[in-house]
Amino acid sequence: MIIDAHIHYGDDHPDFLALLDREALKLLNICVAHVDNEWSDWYGQAERYRMLTEQLPQRFAWCTTFDLPRFDDPNYVDDVIAQLDRDFDAGAVACKVWKNVGMEVKTPDGDFFMVDDPLLDPIFEHIAKRGRTLLTHIAEPLACWQPLDENNPHYGYYSRNPQWHMYNRPEFPSHERLMDARDHMVEKHPALRVVGAHFGSLEYDVDAVATRLDRYPNFAVDISARLLDIAIQDSDKVRQFFIDYADRILFGTDVVMRTPLSSMDDVTRSHALQTLKEVYQMHFAYFERSDMVTVRGRSTRGIDLPGDVLTKFYRTNAETWYPGLT
Ligand SMILES: [Zn+2]
Repeated sequence: MIIDAHIHYGDDHPDFLALLDREALKLLNICVAHVDNEWSDWYGQAERYRMLTEQLPQRFAWCTTFDLPRFDDPNYVDDVIAQLDRDFDAGAVACKVWKNVGMEVKTPDGDFFMVDDPLLDPIFEHIAKRGRTLLTHIAEPLACWQPLDENNPHYGYYSRNPQWHMYNRPEFPSHERLMDARDHMVEKHPALRVVGAHFGSLEYDVDAVATRLDRYPNFAVDISARLLDIAIQDSDKVRQFFIDYADRILFGTDVVMRTPLSSMDDVTRSHALQTLKEVYQMHFAYFERSDMVTVRGRSTRGIDLPGDVLTKFYRTNAETWYPGLT
């Protein structure tokens, strides 16, 4: 079995379930509490992911999240803890905190609300006490703070989502400040397991990830949505990094389901599932092969990981870092 430890795909269409069976995949579906867009109702995501996990525990697990701060509500922390207890009791193996913490939410005095804010301490301590894991998506790729560059893996995203592009916007926190806040939070809660999504937002250099893994034994990373960032680095260096930190890196894709499969016609659905399958094949090729492979249109040499390292990366690390997942 292979565990995709970071995905947003809450569907139970028979064709999709058949694909999961064929590929022997289990998915960890992640809830995200956006401020205002089509996902604003994260309770809806939670309900869908919880039900799928209940119905098909061999194929699905789920990660909850929590409401963004209500600074004028004295019950906020207690309410979040009660909600987390309900979700953990209902099988959630982790809790996610998203990039709007650090980059969007502001404190009453007008500064950006950081993930190491003392307001969150009792929440994070509670997650640790319950033996669950915190998944953090803090900050963005470094390219977010750099001029648009067509060769950068994130060019498409920032050209389409200028509201998240922070180049030349000094009123927003820097990448360094956000990383410092995340590191400080990890350091403050040594009993809390923290998984840094998207290669811990240090996708530009495996050495930057290694520095944090050396410093914080309670920290691991998933590779979700950062395959190309990794693949454009030196293949020998990346291979050695994956071997040196074999217990600390989790496989994940970050595929987002935008339209339920059941609302697609047959042709569109089979195309969507073919695309999903190709995403997995692209990942497997890079990690398993030793010849030239294509990652999102770019040619690079596969890193041919040893079998025991692959087993940890594809499955065991997810089970270790998210107890209760299998
Ligand atoms: Zn995600």
